[in-house]
Amino acid sequence: MSSRTALTADRIARDLEVAVERGEILAHYQPQVATMTGRVVAVEALCRWRHPEFGLIAPDVFVPVAEETGSIHSIGRFMIEDGCRLAADWERAGLPVEVAVNVSAKQLAVDFFDHLGETHAREGVEPGRLTIEITESQMIADVPAAVRELERVRSLGVGISVDDFGTGHSTVEQVVALPVTELKIDQVIVREVGPDSQRTLDAIVDLVHRRGLRVVAEGVETEQQLERMRRLRCDRVQGYLISRPLPRHEVEDFIAERIG
Ligand code: C2E
Ligand code: CA
Ligand code: CA
Repeated sequence: MSSRTALTADRIARDLEVAVERGEILAHYQPQVATMTGRVVAVEALCRWRHPEFGLIAPDVFVPVAEETGSIHSIGRFMIEDGCRLAADWERAGLPVEVAVNVSAKQLAVDFFDHLGETHAREGVEPGRLTIEITESQMIADVPAAVRELERVRSLGVGISVDDFGTGHSTVEQVVALPVTELKIDQVIVREVGPDSQRTLDAIVDLVHRRGLRVVAEGVETEQQLERMRRLRCDRVQGYLISRPLPRHEVEDFIAERIG
């Protein structure tokens, strides 16, 4: 008798518990370029799960389950360690490319700061080389708690990016009042065209710049979108137009080609 096994939520939850210790979680890196020069200035780490039976699984499938069950803590620690190691390796190699790591608010609540501080110091990451990305909605959900944790993170010289900006209900004023260093404009906003959205975005970028923060546009897929982001004075852009997320050695080749 043969029974087809399916990747149910239960199965994901169960297999995730041991995924990190079995070496099944890995990071891909997507380049971010300076809008004006096209130079690669950073990469965003995005986790993937190489399941022994189901193959490569995208984070949209398993991160929400991991946040429910608590597996996000081991996955998150792995991603911080991997990101810190990469940032330190590139620092030693004289490569001026920063690393951003996604962090779920669930992680912030438990031991996050201690683990980040230890890893950051052990790997010898220079201030400014590492940024953590937290979604706008997760940051705004509990502002006093977020401010407390984010200030501790900033004390290490680690940057903080507001991910998916424009998808939640918060205003830019609320967001820039937090101890953050970067605003990441969501791809939904990047796709909006028309004079109204252009004017709104222009005012947002203006305010964010006046506060001394950086603006990154994500999900840039076309030359037209790139040109719009350039006109808006976005500092950095990221998206399939530049590159998909790549394994470490491929992103290193990509950067070397662009420099050489
Ligand atoms: P995100 O942080 O907003 O990451 C951007 C997502 O958009 C990535 O999907 C990326 O591959 C995709 N993307 C990049 N450029 C383009 C583009 O030009 N067009 C389109 N259509 N998509 C683009 P991915 O890798 O599947 O990640 C999905 C989400 O999973 C992430 O969204 C993030 O919320 C979460 N995630 C990924 N890695 C981690 C992690 O290590 N920790 C946590 N907590 N969440 C993670
Ligand atoms: Ca992100
Ligand atoms: Ca995002």
